[in-house]
Amino acid sequence: MLEYWRYPFLPSASKILEGINLQSLLEDYFYAEARALALIRLETSASSGIIDVEGPPTNDETDIVLGYVISRLVLAAADNQALVNYVALSEALRAEKYLNVETDENLVNIVNNLGVIDVTLEKENFTLNFIDYVRAASKLREGDWKLSNRGVSNGIVTLERKTLVRLMREVIRQHLEELPEAPPEIKKQFEGTLDDLKLKVSKTFIERIGGLNNVVNQRQAEAMKELGRFDLSKAPPCFNLNLMDLQAGVNLPHPSRFFITTFLSSLNQDPESVMRLFATAPDFKESFTRYQVEHISGKTSGTQYSAPKCDTLVSSGVCPGPNSLCRLIKHPLSYYRVMAESEKKAVNRTERILLATLNKEEFPSDLLKDNIEKISEFNFSYPEKVSQRNLVEALKTDDFSQVKAKINYFQGRVYSVDVPNKERKIWITKASLNIKEKNIDYDCLPLTDWKIALSVEDAFRKSKELELIVKPYEINFGENELRTLFLIVDIFTES
Ligand code: SF4
Repeated sequence: MLEYWRYPFLPSASKILEGINLQSLLEDYFYAEARALALIRLETSASSGIIDVEGPPTNDETDIVLGYVISRLVLAAADNQALVNYVALSEALRAEKYLNVETDENLVNIVNNLGVIDVTLEKENFTLNFIDYVRAASKLREGDWKLSNRGVSNGIVTLERKTLVRLMREVIRQHLEELPEAPPEIKKQFEGTLDDLKLKVSKTFIERIGGLNNVVNQRQAEAMKELGRFDLSKAPPCFNLNLMDLQAGVNLPHPSRFFITTFLSSLNQDPESVMRLFATAPDFKESFTRYQVEHISGKTSGTQYSAPKCDTLVSSGVCPGPNSLCRLIKHPLSYYRVMAESEKKAVNRTERILLATLNKEEFPSDLLKDNIEKISEFNFSYPEKVSQRNLVEALKTDDFSQVKAKINYFQGRVYSVDVPNKERKIWITKASLNIKEKNIDYDCLPLTDWKIALSVEDAFRKSKELELIVKPYEINFGENELRTLFLIVDIFTES
């Protein structure tokens, strides 16, 4: 018998949901205990990285599983990936604690029940197909975790019990970072769309969701307090995820520590601040950490080590997988630099957007001059209240509009153009796109601000509608071609 209170994320645990409808789950007094357990799960994950939900007899198994399901619904409604990641890691650490004390037979049963990898017990070891292994260990490619160091025989990898349990922490974490839409048992009984479902859940938990978001923000701000001018919102996924692990008390492997130290040193963070960041690690030894950080950052060695390139970070397991901007760069520092586009002066941003729009092989001096004379500068700041319009109306006004649109096309690309009489090129990482309303496409100026482009790409991939702040500009493409395109200034979010 599987003890679902220990592993409520197992697919077979959801049979406990049979016959329960969403309305009751969210509102009935009968499920108040489950709702309270859901919030404990989320709040302690967000604040301390630990889920301390005791099993029977203190808490009823059904309440724990229902609490887990409610916690997933609240996470879906909160729509905060950092929160999802904190919770995924906390759930994985909790499960790892219980897996450690299971019998070998139970361990196999639980692992296989999750359905991500399939293992077999062979005497006192566990075997699995190398494809399952590579998938499960994709983020643990350092040293012994490398497939080449695992002694694969006939496509089969053999693991000791301790290694399998550690691997399962990764499997569970990755599994839970992918937020499922909603458990099928809940979806089956709910007649509305997924957005309706999220709306319903967020209405019930509106204050608690606000509180959870605040905890996540505070936790990130706390970690970054040490880091002066460093801007977390510009950091690549590899940095954010490793930092999150560090804050959640995970022992980071050496390549991750080396990356964090070199990355921050390259951005002029002083060794003392970097050192204090590692003070949260469970195996923190001040003198050893100080020696390592000061050596890597060049304070004691005289050589400042450079941050590794993406290729190296991928092969050492530090990279959690690229997002759409990562696919255009080769180094995490380039990611940070590209994300700083919105900090450039408006005049420079205007020139870069125009260059990206005109997309000429030769520097288009005359066209650029002509457009700049006409536009002067793009206006990137918009008033607090912006009128809502449809795209047809928005195209006719010369003011900002708040519009609802789907992203019909999105393509990221690195573009370069030689600067005349100067031996240098201008490099622009741009996203070409157009937006759609009622089956009509509207062209947009390319986005060079990737803080916006990343969310736009996400909406494109998910075919999701976005509320955007836009303003139309007429652009001269030369040879009598004048076209009006939308400048996307921001993504509208309810304050
Ligand atoms: S692709 Fe590069 S920048 Fe992006 S997450 Fe991976 S290592 Fe970091």
